[in-house]
Amino acid sequence: MSHQLLVLPGDGIGAEVMPHVERVLDATGVDLTVKHGLLGGVAIDSEGVALPPETLEKAKASDAILLGAVGGPAWDHLPMMDRPERGLLGLRSELDLFANLRPAILFEPLAHASSLKPELVANLDILIVRELTGGIYFGEPRGVEEADGQRRGFNTYVYAEDEIDRIARVAFDLAQKRNGRVCSVDKANVLEVTRLWREVVDETHADFEDIELSHMYVDNAAMQLVRAPKQFDVIVTGNMFGDILSDVAAMLTGSLGMLPSASLNGSGQGLYEPVHGSAPDIAGQNVANPLATVLSAAMMMRYSLDEMDAADRLERAVQSVLEAGFRTPDIMLDHSNTKLTRVGTDAMADAVIAALRS
Ligand code: NAD
Repeated sequence: MSHQLLVLPGDGIGAEVMPHVERVLDATGVDLTVKHGLLGGVAIDSEGVALPPETLEKAKASDAILLGAVGGPAWDHLPMMDRPERGLLGLRSELDLFANLRPAILFEPLAHASSLKPELVANLDILIVRELTGGIYFGEPRGVEEADGQRRGFNTYVYAEDEIDRIARVAFDLAQKRNGRVCSVDKANVLEVTRLWREVVDETHADFEDIELSHMYVDNAAMQLVRAPKQFDVIVTGNMFGDILSDVAAMLTGSLGMLPSASLNGSGQGLYEPVHGSAPDIAGQNVANPLATVLSAAMMMRYSLDEMDAADRLERAVQSVLEAGFRTPDIMLDHSNTKLTRVGTDAMADAVIAALRS
């Protein structure tokens, strides 16, 4: 059966990279019915809003959404609520995409791009599962008030049992498709809300006996991520801790142009996008690295479309173009290495397609 895919190229390098990634998708041979939609600045210019109703309708009807990036200086003067980024936030909340997946995969040929020693990170493959729609970023009450003659700021860190259970289930499910280990990160020694987090994760674990579960305090997890990151398989955590830890993990791999992400809802529908933005400084120059979007498409094959073989083939193709020495400028770190070939966006996509076909 054909998978329903909505492609939202967006702005800047998002729009530039996406046609090449669509060529890569074609080369996988997976049966996709592809629709296109407007999101972000391009939607503001043509429809007057960042998330037009037609785009939302198409998104709801699709199995997966592949997004380039949104935003840019042309829309920076707009009020916060009207900016391109609001379109993305709107899409996330309308589709109830509560599980954010941020893998940190380090391809061996790029091990020296990391801020850690190559042997600590070569072939690193961690998946951080972050709760995206709850926790302290959304908890009420919140605000800044006057009290005793001074200002006092406050937020509320709150999670209900069902919110914890559903994100834990996502993490356990994903671990079943990987190496079978989940580490749940909390601060249960200090915060009652995360003590509940730990209890509920333990209860949910009863349904996943094949998965090895461990718990870790967030301060230790931050330390372990930079000390011995390969000890982790899947990390599951709340919104704020996940925000911080996923950026730490991202830096282990060194390059923004290589980082994919996904946001899933309870029915497996997902929004897949590179971690990077629209990079207006390089847009239109054929130098943007398309691999973060290619790897996002690989995640889409694995987590929403159940096309495991295509996901593996896409990731192997990326590995092999890097081994063959193809580098877009952002990952061309060693200019004296004559075995490396500097390529543009189009030629990098061509190389991935050639690798898929070989
Ligand atoms: P950015 O990620 O767009 O760029 C940061 C730096 O990394 C730039 O120097 C850029 O050239 C480089 N870079 C990014 N992706 C690259 C790639 N694929 N290949 C090579 N180099 C790459 O972040 P920014 O400059 O802070 O933001 C630019 C715009 O993007 C802003 O409007 C911002 O709001 C938006 N943004 C959107 C998203 C999204 O769509 N999810 C995420 C982050 C930022």
